[in-house]
Amino acid sequence: MDQPTLKNMQQAHHILKSTFGYDQFRHHQADIIESIINGQDVLTLMPTGGGKSICYQIPALVRAGTAIVVSPLIALMQDQVDALQQLGIKAAFLNSTLHASEQRRIENELLKGGFDLLYLAPERLLNEYTLTLLDQCDIALFAIDEAHCVAQWGHDFRKEYQQLSMLHERYPSVPRIALTATADARTRHEIIEQLSLQQAKTFINSFDRPNIHYAISEAGNGRDELWKFIQANHPNDAGIIYCLSRKNVDTTADWLTKKGCTALPYHAGLSQNIRQHNQQRFLRDDGCIIVATIAFGMGIDKPDVRFVAHLNLPKNIESYYQETGRAGRDGQAANAWMTYGLKDVINLRLFTQNSDADELFKRLMLQKTDAMLGLCELTSCRRQAILAYFGEHLEMPCGNCDNCIHPPQTWDATIATQKALSCIYRSGERFGSQYIIDILLGKDDERIKHNQHEQLSTFGIGSEHSNPEWRGILRQLIAHGYLATDSEGYGVLKLTQKAWPLLKRRETPQTVMLRKLRKISKAQQKKSRPSSNTSSNTSSNTSARKSALELPQQDQHIFEQLRALRSSLAKEQNVPPYVIFADKTLIELAIVKPATKAQMLDISGIGEVKLKRYGEAFLNTLKNTA
Ligand code: ADP
Ligand code: ZN
Repeated sequence: MDQPTLKNMQQAHHILKSTFGYDQFRHHQADIIESIINGQDVLTLMPTGGGKSICYQIPALVRAGTAIVVSPLIALMQDQVDALQQLGIKAAFLNSTLHASEQRRIENELLKGGFDLLYLAPERLLNEYTLTLLDQCDIALFAIDEAHCVAQWGHDFRKEYQQLSMLHERYPSVPRIALTATADARTRHEIIEQLSLQQAKTFINSFDRPNIHYAISEAGNGRDELWKFIQANHPNDAGIIYCLSRKNVDTTADWLTKKGCTALPYHAGLSQNIRQHNQQRFLRDDGCIIVATIAFGMGIDKPDVRFVAHLNLPKNIESYYQETGRAGRDGQAANAWMTYGLKDVINLRLFTQNSDADELFKRLMLQKTDAMLGLCELTSCRRQAILAYFGEHLEMPCGNCDNCIHPPQTWDATIATQKALSCIYRSGERFGSQYIIDILLGKDDERIKHNQHEQLSTFGIGSEHSNPEWRGILRQLIAHGYLATDSEGYGVLKLTQKAWPLLKRRETPQTVMLRKLRKISKAQQKKSRPSSNTSSNTSSNTSARKSALELPQQDQHIFEQLRALRSSLAKEQNVPPYVIFADKTLIELAIVKPATKAQMLDISGIGEVKLKRYGEAFLNTLKNTA
C-alpha cells in the first residue's frame, strides 16, 4: 500500500470504529472501500444484510465532496437519512415528497458543500436542472444502489436506470459504485453492459444468509402450525406472513389479532391510506406482524424482521429466496418457515399451466416450479440445495435448517406408489386427488358408486394409510415426477413416463423412497429456534450461526427494558427504533451490562455520537435492572 492509500485506509478504519461503532470490516468491505477511495469504479454483489451501505458511506466521508446515492426507493430515503443523521453524518435527500422551500434549502446547502451524502431517485438525477446543480458541486462518488433495476427482464426494471451510463460521460473522473443483492450472472452482465462498468473491479460475495434458519413442513392445519411456531419462537417479534389470496390475508390477520398479536393486513385490495398506515406501523412499532400477499416487500428495509412465514408455496426458488431474505437483515438469528400441502402443489402447477405465456416460457416456468417442489420434498440440507440452485457450492451441510437438525425419516413406499398409480390408471386418469384417495380407502360414496368404481380391484386396497398420509404420498409423487396434473387445468392426476415401469412391475422394480409424515412436537419446534442453544448431531457448519448473538434466558428481561427505552426514544424523534440501535447492540448491552461510558464504546454499533446522545439513558436503565 502506498503512503496516501495507507493513510486513507487508516482513516476508513477510524470512521468504522468511531462513527459506526464496529471493530472490523467484513466480507470485501475493506477492498471495496479502498478501490473507491482511490477513484476506481466498483461493482458489488452482496446478499441482503451483507453490509453494502458502508461500502459507499465510508468513502463518502473520506473523499472530498458530496457522495450522490441513486436509489429507486423514495419511501426509504427518509429512514436512510435519519439513520445517517443519528450517526452524526451530514446527509439529505431530494425527491418529490419535499416542499419547494425545503428543496431550495437543501440545494443551497449542497452548493455550499454542506452534505457528505445526498440521496436522489434516478429520474430526479437525470433531470437537466439537477445535473446543472451537480455541475457546480464537488462530487465525491456516485453510488448506484439496487443496480439490478437496469436489467430489462428483471421484475424491478426501471428505464431511467439505463440512462445512468451518462454519469460516466459527464463526470469521467468521479468513481462509481454499483450495488445489488441479485445473484444471477445474467443480471450481473447486464449491469456491467448498461452502466459501462467494463473497467470496474467486481466483488462477489457468497449469497448465503447463514443467520436464517430454513424450515419447510407439510401442512396439517397450516394456521394452527403457524400459531405453534409463533408462540414457541417469536411471541414478541416482528415478522412477515405471506399468503396467496387477499381473502386469506384478511382472515389470517383477524385470526392472529384475536389471539392477541398485533397483526396487520397488506394487499393491493386495501386503500393506499390503509396500506401506508400498516406499513408504517410495521416499520415503527416493535413486534408487529404484517400479513401480506407478495405485493408487500419491495423497499422494505426493516432490519429486525425476525421471521418470514409462508402459508402457501412461492412460485419458484427465486421468489422464495427473495421473500425469506427479508428476515434477519441485521445478521441476527431469524426464521424462514413454510407450510404447504397437496393442494398447493396442484395449484402451483395449474397456475403455470393455465398462464397465457407461450410454450417455451411455460416450460421454463414449470421447470422452476418443479425445482421449488424439489426443495420442499428434499431430505438433505436445504441451504446446500438453495445455494446450488444459484450456482454456489456449500461444502458441508449447514446445521441450521430443519433437515440438518432433524433429519427426516424416509420409508419404502414402492407398494403404496404402485397402488396409487394403479388406481389412477384403472379409473381412467380422469379424477382429482381426493377422489382417488376415496377409492383407495374404500369409501362409501355416491360418486364412486355412480361410476361403478367400487368394483375396481384397487377399491379399498389402501386402508393401511390414513387420508393425510395418502395426500402426502400423492404430493410427493407429483414432486418426484411420477404424476402430472392435466394440462386443461382441473387438477386431474395423470401418469407420467416415469410411472410406467413401476406400474408394470418389471423384473427389476425401482424402489420409491418417500419422506415420512413428520409430526413436529412442541419440544422439537422450540429446538428449531435459532437464538436458543441448538445442538445438532449432523456435521454442522458452526460458522453458519456465529454471526448471530444468542441472548441467554436470564437476560431476556433486560433486553425487553432496553427495547422499551429504544422505542420511546424513537417515538420522541419520530424515527424507526432500529436507527437508534440495532437489535444486536441491545442484545450485547443486555449480556455485557457495561457500567461506564467507556465500556459502552466496546459494544458493537455504539460510536461516539450515539454514545453522547444515548449513553446516559441506557446506562441508567441497565443500572435499574441490575
Ligand atoms: P445491505 O444494504 O447489504 O442489506 P446494510 O448496509 O443495511 O446491508 O448492513 C446490514 C447491517 O450490518 C447494518 O445493521 C449495518 O450497520 C451492519 N454492518 C455493516 N457492516 C458491518 C461491519 N463491518 N461490522 C458490523 N456490522 C456491520
Ligand atoms: Zn442444512
